[in-house]
This record gives sequence, C-alpha cells and structure tokens, in this order.
Amino acid sequence: MVKAKRGSGGVAVPDKKELSGRMPIEDAGIPAELTLFLSQHIGAPSKPLVNAGDEVKRGQKIAEAQGAVSACLHAPTSGKVKAIEPRYQPVLGRVVDAIVIVPDGEHALYEGVAPVGDDLQAISQEKVREVVRESGLVGLGGAAFPTAVKLEHPPGKKIDTYLLNGVECEPYLTADQKLMEESAAGVVFGFRALMKGAGVEKGIICIEDNKPDAIKAMEEASKPYPELEVAVLSHRYPRGGEKQLIEAVLGREVPPPPGLPLDVGVIVSNVGTAYALATALKTGLPLVERIVSVTGEGVARPANLRALIGTPVSYLIDRVGGFSSSPGKVILGGPMMGVSIRDTEVSIVKGTSGVLVLPREAVETEPVLPCIRCGKCVEACPIRLLPVWIAAYAENDFMEDAEKMRAMDCIECGACSYVCPSRRPLTQSIRLAKAHIAAKRRAAAKK
Ligand code: SF4
Ligand code: SF4
Repeated sequence: MVKAKRGSGGVAVPDKKELSGRMPIEDAGIPAELTLFLSQHIGAPSKPLVNAGDEVKRGQKIAEAQGAVSACLHAPTSGKVKAIEPRYQPVLGRVVDAIVIVPDGEHALYEGVAPVGDDLQAISQEKVREVVRESGLVGLGGAAFPTAVKLEHPPGKKIDTYLLNGVECEPYLTADQKLMEESAAGVVFGFRALMKGAGVEKGIICIEDNKPDAIKAMEEASKPYPELEVAVLSHRYPRGGEKQLIEAVLGREVPPPPGLPLDVGVIVSNVGTAYALATALKTGLPLVERIVSVTGEGVARPANLRALIGTPVSYLIDRVGGFSSSPGKVILGGPMMGVSIRDTEVSIVKGTSGVLVLPREAVETEPVLPCIRCGKCVEACPIRLLPVWIAAYAENDFMEDAEKMRAMDCIECGACSYVCPSRRPLTQSIRLAKAHIAAKRRAAAKK
C-alpha cells in the first residue's frame, strides 16, 4: 500500500456516505419501461439495429457504435421495442433519439451471450479490446468516455501506469465503495484485463481513506498480483478527477486541454468499468446494468441498487420507499458535479452513479452577496484558475477576457462555489462562459 497526499486545491466537504454506505447492493428489479438513449456517451450517437415492434432479449445489441469515438448499446432485459423516438436526455439537457423497450418480465438471455473465459493468460490483447468495444463499455465514473478508445491509444504514446479510480470523492455516493467491498475479486480481474487490453504493466488502485472496508477488500484481492498496488488518498474533493488523481498519486501534471492523461503516460478508468469488463469476459453479458446509489436525506431508505440502464428515476426512488419529505432537489450524480432534474420520469444512463434527493429545507437558498475578495475560490480551485475573475468577466459578457483567463480549463467541479462565503454562483457563470466560447470556436471552425 502507498500513501498519496500530493495535489493542489480542492475542498474538505462532509462526505455524507454513512447514509447508504452500510447498505448492501440490492437488485432494483425490472421497471415497466426502459429508455435507452442513443447519445449517452462522449462521441457520436449509436445507430439503431432494431425497429419498433421487434422482440429483444437481454444482452442483445440494439444499437451500433458509429465512428471512432462512440459506443454500442444492448437490451438490458427481454421485451418489445415500443418506439424509437426523441426523449429528454437529462445529462445532456436536450432531446435525443432513444430506443424504448417494454419488458416482458421473462428476463430472457440473448443466445449470442456467451462467456469468453476467466483465464487472462489465455485471452489475447486483441480479444480484450474486442470485448470492450462490443460490450459498449464507457467510463462509469460519470464521464462516459468509450473505454475502447483509451485502450487503443496511439502507438507513439508510451503508457507506463494504469490508475483504477475508486476514489468516489463526491459526497453521498457509495456505488463504487460497495462494489469494491462486495466484488473486489471481480474488480481486480477486470482491472488486470483493462491493463492487458492497454498493454500497461503497472496498475495502481486509488481509494480515499474514508473507505476502510473497500481498501481492505481491494488489498486482499490484489495481493497475488505484484503488478498491482493500492494507493490510499486523504479525503479531499475533487480528488477523483482524472487530472487531480494523476497529480496526487504520481506527481505528474496533465497539460491543459487538449492535453490528456496519455500525454503523461497514464490511463485512468473507474472501478465500475473494470467490473463491467470482468462481467463481459466471465459471462458474456455486455454493459446493461450498473450500481446506482439512491440516497440523500430526502429518500426514505438510502440504498445501493443494481439497476438496468434506462430505468426511470421515479422507479428507483419508489424502490427505496419514496421521498421522506417534500423534495427540494433531485440530482443525477453527486451534489457537486451532478445534474439537477425537474422530472423524475427521465431515465438513468450508463454514467449515472447516483440519484440524490435533498429535502426542501436543505436547498432553500440565501441571497447572493457581493464578492469580498477573500480569495477562497482561488485557493480551492484544483486547476489553479482564478474563478472570481473568470466569473466576473462572464457575468459582464467579456467572454474574450474569460477565455484568456483559461475558462475552458475549468472542470466544473463546483469547489469554488462551495467555498464562496458570498454564495456567488461562480461555477454557473464559468459554465456559461465555456458554452459561449465553445460556440464561438465551433462557428470559427465552420468558416
Ligand atoms: S473554476 Fe472550475 S475547476 Fe476551478 S474550482 Fe471552480 S468549478 Fe472547479
Ligand atoms: S470566494 Fe467568493 S467572495 Fe471570496 S474572492 Fe471568491 S468570489 Fe469573492
């Protein structure tokens, strides 16, 4: 075990993991309808392989990846395709095409689903890559970047270390924690398979020190493999961001965008992604379900559910006993980087690690006050930006100045807004500046 404590910025936030952290993973069951968005990963939307009226089975491929950065989709259970129609995708915040499946309750497995094997020595690197591609694997920590693209890195890049991200630094969320506690051997197998797929010989499993049971389980499971070690990090948000993690564990600084972890010889994947690959290799089942923490003071019985991709949020909240009081906010993900939703009929996507419900009294807002130039937002920024200045430029429509102050480097972690004593919506203003700058760049590229 190594202790890692380096890294700049960030904030100490109460982790609130006790709410769902003691609850074992349970099956969420099958809802009345599943909505599989064709755009739920970074990259081009996938292309449907089925039509309305078709019967599908669990694990059957229903949409093909399109282009170099994309991921395919599979039916999470058996049933009938009701429609392929536009539906609101809550993470993207817009309407996109989706395959809607009405389950038949049989949960019948597609005949093409067959195990590859559980002996990594006997599975080639190309086979691992093919399974990753064909299983529709994406980063399950929230980013939903297609995993195959990470493994098939350009030959000129020398990658020496693979980091497995089990940090889960967002308050409340415990999906990764429970997966490591309950399925450590599967996570380690999947990690070794990812390393094989990427051709990387050294692996470090990264966990924050607020998850002692997960650390113990992962140390035990990785003991037989000298190429693996566990790094324990002190709890600090947003330690789990790729760049922050690489700096904290390896002391390497990823260059600003378009710089990537590959540029400093590193690949990072989430523990959920590793486990999904283990499942695909050992059983043949592609990515059709994931662990979701349904938690917060606003639900009756916080829990960790194994949910089918495409399950409506309202169904998951019902499974944990419904709201405990009048809900103030429902968030997909954690409180710092999650997406607030108004309608709980929307469905979860591959990258949904949590559904967080905060009661009304917890989100009642106090007025925004003028900046007092305390500098706390600057101290908190893990990217070493000047949030106070970027936000001020954005609020006054000086977008070029915001761009010069590196607005596009912001990872929207929310740490600056969290520490601001004047409750200034810094992240929101910076996000606005980023959207404006991105639109300007797109327009310039078209000319
Ligand atoms: S400026 Fe961006 S990266 Fe820096 S603390 Fe604020 S939200 Fe996080
Ligand atoms: S933390 Fe808030 S009050 Fe302090 S400098 Fe930043 S914006 Fe101003």
